[in-house]
Amino acid sequence: MNIILLGPPGAGKGTQAQILVDSRDMIQLSTGDMLREAKDSGTEMGNKVAEVMARGDLVTDDIVIGLIREKLQGDKKGGFIFDGFPRTLAQADALADLLAEQGETLDAVIEMRVDDDTLVKRIVGRAEEARAAGQPVRADDNEDSVRHRLMEYYKKTAPLIGYYHAKRQLESVDGLGTIDEVKAEIAAVLDR
Ligand code: AMP
Repeated sequence: MNIILLGPPGAGKGTQAQILVDSRDMIQLSTGDMLREAKDSGTEMGNKVAEVMARGDLVTDDIVIGLIREKLQGDKKGGFIFDGFPRTLAQADALADLLAEQGETLDAVIEMRVDDDTLVKRIVGRAEEARAAGQPVRADDNEDSVRHRLMEYYKKTAPLIGYYHAKRQLESVDGLGTIDEVKAEIAAVLDR
């Protein structure tokens, strides 16, 4: 089963993806994590995207589609969880093509709904916690970047909600509950 977790930054996509990895042997494909790895390893692509990411802008479709293409060719285990991808309509079309090439289908798109103020509080809180614990803090987890990331989400990614709704693939869950409550809502969708 292959699914997309769709939602604004701070909605809890990464947390829920990790739960699905552990409970269903699925594979999490987070383009944000892949881009951060590339940035930390100082590859040419990593250097190119570092500034874009710190500002909270989207990196180019070609780069992220290339990253996903590579991963789809590997072991598929219990299926893929696309986390933070696709973020544009062009990426959504590319994903449909890539899955078709692999003989795979997209089984559900789960939209996680959370209001903006909660998102900003969660992300800024995540940065403060990391800082207090002496852990690395994401360069884009400050209020300015978060507001910019939200604007990018509404302009470029939110249209995917209508796109997948029209394809009858969209399921929405309330992302405001506890981790366990959201987990249960997602499980109900997947086990239907
Ligand atoms: P995330 O960890 O998903 O919040 O992503 C962090 C940052 O990585 C985003 O703000 C973008 O700059 C970049 N990024 C991650 N995924 C994508 C994507 N699918 N398309 C474009 N940019 C992305």
